[in-house]
Formats: sequence, structure tokens, C-alpha cells
Amino acid sequence: MTTNAPMENYKILNVIGEGSFGKALLVCHQNTNQNYVMKEVRLPKSSGASRDSRQEAILLAKMKHPNIVKFRESFEEDGHLYIVMEYCERGDLLVTIKHQRGKLFSEQNILQWFVQMCLAVQHIHEKRVLHRDIKSKNIFLTQSRRIKLGDFGSARILSSPMAHACTYVGTPYYVPPEIWENVPYNNKSDIWSLGCVLYEICTLKHPFQAGGWKNLILKICHGSYSPLPSLYSYELRSLIKQMFRKDPRQRPSANTILTRRGLLKVVKSTVVTQTDDEMPENYPQDELTSAIQHINEPSAPLEDAQHSKPLCSGRRHWKKKPTDTVVNILEDATSLTSSVEANRSVGGDVIKYELKELRKKWNKETSESLLNILNNADLTTAFQTYTIYKAKPSEECLKGPLSSDIPGPDATDSREEEIAVDPERLQPRSDDEDTDFEEEDVDTDWLSELKRATEAQY
Ligand code: ADP
Ligand code: MG
Repeated sequence: MTTNAPMENYKILNVIGEGSFGKALLVCHQNTNQNYVMKEVRLPKSSGASRDSRQEAILLAKMKHPNIVKFRESFEEDGHLYIVMEYCERGDLLVTIKHQRGKLFSEQNILQWFVQMCLAVQHIHEKRVLHRDIKSKNIFLTQSRRIKLGDFGSARILSSPMAHACTYVGTPYYVPPEIWENVPYNNKSDIWSLGCVLYEICTLKHPFQAGGWKNLILKICHGSYSPLPSLYSYELRSLIKQMFRKDPRQRPSANTILTRRGLLKVVKSTVVTQTDDEMPENYPQDELTSAIQHINEPSAPLEDAQHSKPLCSGRRHWKKKPTDTVVNILEDATSLTSSVEANRSVGGDVIKYELKELRKKWNKETSESLLNILNNADLTTAFQTYTIYKAKPSEECLKGPLSSDIPGPDATDSREEEIAVDPERLQPRSDDEDTDFEEEDVDTDWLSELKRATEAQY
């Protein structure tokens, strides 16, 4: 058992990341000589917000799966929360994709990684946890090139009395259409984002790219993306098509994906070879249990899936689509590109954008609220994951880290361009094994939630 202050057990080797939350440090455990990542999170003053911060540690601690970053311990010191977790030596998948310099991965490699991602997502969804920020930057690779899903900073467990109906908006490139359509986030929204990652490892590019916000959102909502390179199989093509179905109910769940005939062989071999062999022998299991207990759980305890109140009996009916969704308004709106201003506050090529003084007056209530929120939102809170990349700040175009050169301004973004149309999108599909669930109904919509969250800062 540890007797020292927990921090004294670690030697800080390096800062590996810095974000709005605080820092990510590479540390070495003094006794075991094992390296870990220690995430240092500044605890906000308000108890509600610090409960949110602790949620990341709580959820990570609950996840025990060979394809999920392993939690080691968590403690609080000097107004900071420290989360100690497994270190993935090869860094994130985005870096790996960029290192390819255009050389495509083999299909076998893609499927092996993809199956591991699905196993991780299946595990969290079984526990009724939504990740809500699945992207190649939050998926890590170990020394032995095993996939680990990480960064549970945006994750939410369902059935929590604190259910946030979309206070999170996400990283624009990975945000599913339903978020822009003002319908609640659900497990299928994670599937959409996972589809984006699958597309990225197939093409080394983002599936949805545009010259501005308006067209990015429209492309996502219309599901227009360039087809996969021809070397990939029909299986991969159809998988992506299904994961990008606009209606979340029509997207396969992680369970359904893993039982596809085309993936069975890979799934089997992955499950067989994936024993938990990466856990160091001297991994202190007893400390693990006490470490989880160490975290102050919220007053209303989060429940495991099997104990939680059933969210839905059978399938949930999708709410009637609101008439004034962001998409509808955008279809009429002039370009928002000119309203996006780079705020070069972050190092490297990462630039955070804020929406400022939008030219177009939006006359519908929801959208107006959205804009007001976007105007006022402090990007470090509600829009924390609203981080996009821009290669040349002088050009008014959105660029992701995997963006190819995007042709011209928004006006040239025509819907006639090469797109993969999915006629099956509109077909009803029987998929009874699918586990549809979504964030709990709350009294307010996500805009109101978001509004409250951002107002709290002023
Ligand atoms: P955020 O995305 O909120 O900044 P993350 O937890 O995703 O927080 O990661 C912060 C930084 O630390 C990123 O640069 C990420 O690549 C790195 N990182 C996070 N977890 C690990 C890990 N388990 N192994 C290696 N690098 C990690
Ligand atoms: Mg991250």
C-alpha cells in the first residue's frame, strides 16, 4: 500500500500535452519504474463543475478492457485532480496517420485496428457510457501497436441525474448530423464518429471537409464524402456507408458491427490474442481498487448498467424533428465562413476559432440562441472540443489536420461533386439486436443546457 502523498510516488519526465483542462505529463512510478501518463486537471471552484471533472476519472476507472487506456489511480492535491493512466508509447492515431505521408494502410491493418476500436466502443456502450469525443486524436497505440481508446473527458454515463443533453458539441469534423439537427446524442452518435476514424485510416483524410462552417455542417448532414480508394473491399465501403447513415437508428451498433460476417475472422483472432498481457506483472491490483474508491463520487452515485433504471423499454421513438434545426437555417443562410475568426492562442498549427459578429441575422429562435451562445461561449468550457485546424490563417477555410487542399470558398462547394450517395439510408432496417439508447430525456434542450453552462461563467 502507498503511504506517501500519492504525488511523491511519481517522477515527472516530460509534459506530453497541454490543453484547456491542464497538462498531460509523462511520469515514472518510482518503485516499479513503470511509465504512466498523468493528467493534471485544474478543479473548478464550483462543485458542479468539479464533479464534471471527476467524472473523467470515475468513468475511466470503470472501464476495464484491453482496448481502453488503463486507469491506475486518481488523487487530488492543491486544487488539482490527477488521473494516472497507462502510457501508450506510440502516441495517438492521428500522428500515425500523418506519418504515413500518403501511403495507404493495408486493409488487414485497418480491419485489425477497427475491430479493436469497436470492441472498446462495445464495452463502453454495454456500460451505458457515451464517449462523445471519438476521434483519431483520442485513440492511442501501444508499443505493440494495440489500439487503446482514451480521453474520457467528454464521456457521460446514462441514467445519471446530471444527464447533459448535449452540453458538448464536439470536434466539428466528427460531430454527427443529429447534433446539428438538435436531437439528443446517443450511442449511434459515437458510431458516426467511429466511422469518421475508420474513413481516416482508409483514406488518410477527413471524410467531411469544407471551406467553412456552413458547408462542413451541410456536408455532414447530407453525408457527402468522397468514395474510398478502389483498393479497399466492398466490405469496408459498405461498413462506412452504414456508419454514416443519417438516421442514427439505421446505423449499426458496435455489437452489430462485430457480428458482421466480413469481420468475424478478424474479431475472433483479436479476441483470442488479446489477453490482458500488457498489464505489468507488478501492477498493484489492490491499489487499483482503493484508487477508484479514493475518488469522491458525486452525491448521486453513478450506476452500473445492470443496476440503472431502464432507459427505454425496447426501441425509443425518435423525437419529432424540430422545424428550425441548424441545418435548415444553414441551407438558407449566407456563408458563415467570414464570421469565423482565428484566435491564435494555441501553439503549433492548432488554432481555436470563435464565431464572432455573424453577418447573417438568424431569425429563428433556436438558431439565434445558438449564435448567441457561440458568440459568448468561452471556448475553454462548453466548446472545449470546438478545436479546428487551419493551415494558413489568411485563407478563410476550415482545415483539419488531415485536410487536403480544399477547393475555393464556400460558394464552390457544390452538392454535385463526387459523393457517395446511400440510397439505403431511407430504407427501414430491422436490426433488433441493436441497442439503441440515448441521453436521458431532460426538461430542457441542449441549447438551454449549453446556455446555462456558459452563463455560469459570467
Ligand atoms: P485532451 O484531448 O483533453 O487535451 P487527452 O487526455 O486526450 O486530453 O490528452 C492530452 C495529451 O496527452 C494529448 O497530446 C494526448 O495525445 C496525450 N495522451 C493522453 N493520454 C495518453 C496516453 N494514455 N498515452 C500517450 N499519450 C497520451
Ligand atoms: Mg484528447
